[in-house]
Amino acid sequence: MSHPTLIEVAVPTPLRKNFSYLCPLNFSLPVIGARVTVPFAGRELVGLVTAHLDSVDVKLDKLKSLINILDNHALQPPTMRKMLSWASNYYLYSLGEIYQQAMPALLRKGHQAKLIEQLQWSLTEQGRNIEADSLARAKKQQQLVALLSDHGTRNNSQLKAADISTATIKAVAEKGLIEQLARSLPEPCFWNDDNINHDDALVLNSEQAICVAAINTEFGFNTSLLLGITGSGKTEVYLQAIEQVISAGKQALILVPEIGLTPQTLQRFQSRFNVPIVFLHSGLNDKERLDGWLKAKMGLAAIVIGTRSAIFTPLLKPGMIIVDEEHDSSFKQQDTFRYNARDLAVVRASLECIPLVLGSATPCFETLHNAQSGKYQLLNLTKRAGNASEASHQIIDIKGVKLQSGMSPQLIELMRHHLTRGDQVMLFLNRRGYAPTLLCHECGWLGDCQRCDAHYTVHQRYQYIQCHHCGAQEAIPRQCPCCGSTQLVTAGVGTEQLEETVNQLFPTFNSVRIDRDSTRNKGALDKSLTGITNNDYQVLIGTQMLAKGHHFPDVTLVAILDVDGALFSGDFRANEKLAQLYLQVSGRAGRASKPGQVVLQTHHPEHQLLRSLNREGYLAFSENALIERKVAQLPPYWHMALLRIESHDNRHINDFNQQLVEISHQLLQQLSSKETPLRQIGPMPAPMERRAGRFRWQVIFESSTRGQLHKFLAMLMPLLLKNKSSRQVRWSVDVDPIDMV
Ligand code: ADP
Ligand code: ZN
Ligand code: ZN
Repeated sequence: MSHPTLIEVAVPTPLRKNFSYLCPLNFSLPVIGARVTVPFAGRELVGLVTAHLDSVDVKLDKLKSLINILDNHALQPPTMRKMLSWASNYYLYSLGEIYQQAMPALLRKGHQAKLIEQLQWSLTEQGRNIEADSLARAKKQQQLVALLSDHGTRNNSQLKAADISTATIKAVAEKGLIEQLARSLPEPCFWNDDNINHDDALVLNSEQAICVAAINTEFGFNTSLLLGITGSGKTEVYLQAIEQVISAGKQALILVPEIGLTPQTLQRFQSRFNVPIVFLHSGLNDKERLDGWLKAKMGLAAIVIGTRSAIFTPLLKPGMIIVDEEHDSSFKQQDTFRYNARDLAVVRASLECIPLVLGSATPCFETLHNAQSGKYQLLNLTKRAGNASEASHQIIDIKGVKLQSGMSPQLIELMRHHLTRGDQVMLFLNRRGYAPTLLCHECGWLGDCQRCDAHYTVHQRYQYIQCHHCGAQEAIPRQCPCCGSTQLVTAGVGTEQLEETVNQLFPTFNSVRIDRDSTRNKGALDKSLTGITNNDYQVLIGTQMLAKGHHFPDVTLVAILDVDGALFSGDFRANEKLAQLYLQVSGRAGRASKPGQVVLQTHHPEHQLLRSLNREGYLAFSENALIERKVAQLPPYWHMALLRIESHDNRHINDFNQQLVEISHQLLQQLSSKETPLRQIGPMPAPMERRAGRFRWQVIFESSTRGQLHKFLAMLMPLLLKNKSSRQVRWSVDVDPIDMV
């Protein structure tokens, strides 16, 4: 070849373009999809090769050369790379940064893409023949040699679990007693029907049977919405749908919400399928995460279960994707690359030509709309499976009623009834801490965060006040900073206070609190959950965290203490979220053979939403709510993107806004028409105008057609990037935002 070889690399920078590099003659040309290290702005970055180029439009001597080639093969399969390119266009985010987020941390840092776990320690000839007491003075070393002599081989994490330190391993290796060898790998995707424990499968009821039959891998790509009330047996449908995937020697990917996967569910998978399962959860270290990712990619894991980012796990022979609790907001990443894993699952399943199942008792409106318009097939489970009966619902009117830490006398009586009967009670309050406000009884001073438009929350137990938006924290003041009075009082109720009052009211019963404060320490949540299962606790108090997927058979009363804030929120999704929460929480009641009771306290018992939810259920409620969305030209009928702008200096925001309006108005005029309308709302201050010392503004762009909105955004972004004013503020675009705060 007459000229050096040229490659294009997706480099992890916010700039939404790829860069060209020279491949020096002493390197062979890296394949597309391989990682390379390249020089970029004085640093060495890991990027991914996206193309081989014939020519570039800059002078060759201006180009830099790549530094190293990290992979001989493409890191991800082509379908995965296609999905990531799609995401780059759709979410208007740099491909290089998306590639970074889509790989485990160690690969990002340039680590080799090899299974670490496959390296095994074993005894050397010398180690096998060692005199029994020659290590008597080094007990740990002796233990290590004994362990390997018993088990043959062990990998690092197994040794760590046996309390053998790296120092010990190193010392024994240096004595020449042990060596590390690569274990030969099993055949990829070796499983078949023999690996399924058919005896474990439940006899499906007719509704479940219809669902399993409809989720057929032979149909290729199709999306099913599995709509089933809590306890209707969705998990059993997943399990039996996965059976055909395993029999065919393929792999299944299951996405679950954060903190949504319970040990019970994992166990159901493990006992049904005698196959390697990779479980990607937040407790993994970098090595374990890489191992799981590679096992999936190499076809050494049959089932991958994980939270949001598990959608980026490559699979050798994908067979099916399942998204459980598809409405859960944790599937949406709320910063940097703002993707929604559920939506990427649709894209991925279509690229892989495999079925996708979206399961929920309370699907999000976007998904329901797609099911109603025929884009997804709707599979409905209307009855509770097994012997569980449906819970009864009751609304308690608390207008004018004196409450004790948020509990009405009527609720307290009900609690007493259930507790003395030997059952468990669950109280739900979506506010952690002791009280949401601290105020001066004499002058009315309010404890406000200096950096946010928000009140401090009082945390009594540890004697501090804290802002839940920026984390700022200080000791509870003894005197009012304004008038010097010592009469500082709290207003409102949080979970900490509720727990205190419950303990006073029911001293013979034990309570447990589950919120972000009580579960901060590692293992704390698991410990509390086990305690609940063992009936060590009778009153369970918690925030949203308690609402998710847990199966507590002895809970018979569930009470939601306060829904009024959500009934009158400015967020157009508030009613949808409240309905989902209500049904999720009430799904915790009476899951086993005991009938459950659900109680809701409100000042507005006549509210339409509560009545229709109670009387007609989620589907009917959502049908009405969807009509309202249509009339109001809101998602899912219209499509939305949110531009967020932040700065410490309001003048910089002003400058930016001015430029933005000029640019966007021109574009809107150019693109918007009667058939394909485009609309801009704002710039306007965000609902919380100041947070962590930054001023926050936002602009909403909307269109009735997705294509039109994206055309507009694709034109707007480069113009904004070029504009000087955009460098003085922090700004980002959120496509399909779910949170407007
Ligand atoms: P979901 O995932 O919809 O909340 P699960 O799959 O966890 O529901 O099922 C709820 C309970 O009903 C579980 O205890 C499960 O073992 C039981 N169950 C599910 N399907 C059946 C069935 N066909 N026959 C008997 N029990 C069932
Ligand atoms: Zn005061
Ligand atoms: Zn703050």
